[in-house]
Amino acid sequence: MTRQYIKSVAPPSTTNGVKTGPDVASIVAEVIADVKQQGDAAVRHYSEKFDKWSPASFRLSEEEIQNIMSTVPEQTIKDIKEVQENVRAFALAQRATITDLEVEIRPGVILGHRNIPIEVVGCYIPGGRYPLLASAHMTIITAKAAGVSHVVACTPPILGKIPASTVAAAHLAGADEIHIIGGTQAIAAMALGTESIPQCHFLAGPGNAFVAEAKRALFGPVGIDLFAGPTEVLIVADDAADPFTCATDLLSQAEHGPDTPAVLITTSKAVAEATLLSIERQLASLCTADVARVSWEAFGEIIVVDGGLDEAFALADEFASEHVQILTREPREALTKMKHYGALFLGKNTCVSYGDKVIGTNHVLPTRKSAHYTGGLWVGKFLKTCTYQEVVSDEASGKLGLLCGRAARAENFEGHARSGDLRAHQLLGEEIEW
Ligand code: NAD
Repeated sequence: MTRQYIKSVAPPSTTNGVKTGPDVASIVAEVIADVKQQGDAAVRHYSEKFDKWSPASFRLSEEEIQNIMSTVPEQTIKDIKEVQENVRAFALAQRATITDLEVEIRPGVILGHRNIPIEVVGCYIPGGRYPLLASAHMTIITAKAAGVSHVVACTPPILGKIPASTVAAAHLAGADEIHIIGGTQAIAAMALGTESIPQCHFLAGPGNAFVAEAKRALFGPVGIDLFAGPTEVLIVADDAADPFTCATDLLSQAEHGPDTPAVLITTSKAVAEATLLSIERQLASLCTADVARVSWEAFGEIIVVDGGLDEAFALADEFASEHVQILTREPREALTKMKHYGALFLGKNTCVSYGDKVIGTNHVLPTRKSAHYTGGLWVGKFLKTCTYQEVVSDEASGKLGLLCGRAARAENFEGHARSGDLRAHQLLGEEIEW
């Protein structure tokens, strides 16, 4: 099988390579250390430094939220509510599939688990470049559908202004507090807690390389949803695909940021070449071309495979891209042929932008190949599945006790063995003394 690169990155790769590296890691480490030591004072320092933002209070009061809401156009509020209904309906349907469990695995031995919502969650809604208000629906609505009792929302200012529609979305989604703070300082404040921000048990939400690295660095004391960094898109197309559609949909993601891998894998050289031309034409009229072009030139790839769709799906799996769009005659084939993706978009009537903005599935999705081990954000991520056990008869406990005594001694755990022995001797009616 040979692969032809109609457009490649240098070197041709499946690394979904985006900016990380020592500079991002060291900036993030410095901010985290300072927020740990100095709390709110450090948050203010870095907010001034990175966002030129230092209001009297980062947290919005109820009155400020109402005033901000009143500036958002009525149609935008209606649209936010409609999208939030989709996101809530799907999240609740997913919640209904998660059940508590209790089973008697041998006579008298009861094992079970309960799904308990995390109590305090921090939701990050990105916004350095665009007001990503859809991330408010995805994180906050989903947390609330899972039963999270307290949601702290943080979002950055955009060019020194409060993003009104993001605040409206966060408020309508049910955020319990909203802070206008961005980047590492927001992530660190929610993970570590400061004088004015409660320490969260879990952080959710996408973001740029700084946000993703901050979540990674803080994982441990605080839980994180997944590695949802700079966005990625990959299209699998056959010879029936429309090159104009391929080009439009690749650029729809390339505009996210200058570090967006956008990849077309196709079985058709004609589709590949026409898509490349169409991208150049479409960039000329795209008002976000300053970002999309940088991204496309650095990370855009068009690959023609000669091994048919099976090879295309296998190569797509190697990328493990965040968004995979299937533009083939039989798009549902991908459901059985592919294993590694954040979300699949099946057929020409379905586009990644629907998933990003309106359709109701979650848009917080794994990037940088983390789709090999996780799917995207969903209600299950906000639940702890905690087990319990009960042995309800002396006989069952006695039998287990004998087994436990032997199993523990095989590991040289005499103290564990005694706990088992105690129950076994009770069953046998023997006195026991250590
Ligand atoms: P952002 O909110 O993630 O980041 C903005 C913040 O970054 C600023 O507030 C600032 O504090 C910090 N920052 C910027 N430059 C810095 C520097 N040089 N040093 C230290 N801190 C700095 O917003 P964004 O930048 O617009 O990025 C949003 C990202 O979210 C995009 O990359 C997009 O692709 C991604 N995204 C991913 C998903 C997903 O599910 N994977 C979904 C939506 C969006």
